[in-house]
Amino acid sequence: MRQIKLSATSAPLQAVHDAVLDAHGIRLNVLRLDLLHPFISGNKWFKLRPVLERAQTLGQRTLISVGGAWSNHLLALAAAGQQAGLTTIGLVRGEVLRPLNPVLAAAEAFGMTLVPVSRTDYREHHTQAFRQAVQERWPQAHVIPEGGATLDGVLGCQEIAHALRWTAPAKSPRRVILATATGTTLAGLVSALDESVRVEATLVLKGEDRLSAQVQHWLAQLPPGPRAEWQIVQGWHAGGYARRCPELDAFITGFVARTGIPLEPVYTGKMMWSLYGRIANGEIPPDSEVIAIHTGGIAPRTT
Ligand SMILES: *Cc1c(COP(=O)(O)O)cnc(C)c1O
Repeated sequence: MRQIKLSATSAPLQAVHDAVLDAHGIRLNVLRLDLLHPFISGNKWFKLRPVLERAQTLGQRTLISVGGAWSNHLLALAAAGQQAGLTTIGLVRGEVLRPLNPVLAAAEAFGMTLVPVSRTDYREHHTQAFRQAVQERWPQAHVIPEGGATLDGVLGCQEIAHALRWTAPAKSPRRVILATATGTTLAGLVSALDESVRVEATLVLKGEDRLSAQVQHWLAQLPPGPRAEWQIVQGWHAGGYARRCPELDAFITGFVARTGIPLEPVYTGKMMWSLYGRIANGEIPPDSEVIAIHTGGIAPRTT
């Protein structure tokens, strides 16, 4: 595999100064993983790297994964695959409409073959039968689950924890916040931190039925060791995955204008919106030091 040099420790930690935070004595720093690479955005590289290495060990030169038409994961896979000299195939939910949207256009420009999968079939993507059908059609390929949600991905995300730098005295309560969908990044962080840190993950979709169990399942498969306290923060999905509401949009516009830090409405916008909402509700102790993981997700520009 050709080397891709992306290290979490080179991500800037940016201090945020905002009246609401100051009023509550909360120190906020943002770990800007979004600045590491223009296309292999944020957390996706950390989830993919061990998977790429495993494929290489197995001698598999083709990587296949699944995602929606705006999937950051498929785009990151396309970019990482091209840099590593591997072939990539993206199974896209629904139709592949042309002209392509900016995410799929960029993925295709990185050499990814886009294959539409009907919505009915896509619903089965996490089943053994679906995986088998994909493997039969592309026998040589390495199949990666949606969102890069694997134990390898969890291990890869541990690197993000090593990039955290605390600036306040250790007696200030320490929190790491992030947006979560599959729980992979969350599990990586929890397993690489200790109980002096609380990890709070804002769920960007509706319904939590399987997520805690999945995170616990991954943690149970790792060697025993210290773990951060963790919590899945619910009630900030604005109607479901990729849904938005006027309050969320207004929050994002205001935050970006005040701080200059870009947010998008699907992941990082909901993370930051929930932080401010929970500060207002008194759920974040005063004098806390918070590090927000900016996991990326800013759509590539078409121009
Ligand atoms: C994929 C993605 C996430 C979710 O990561 P999980 O490990 O699946 O929880 C969060 N933020 C952004 C910007 C993403 O693209």
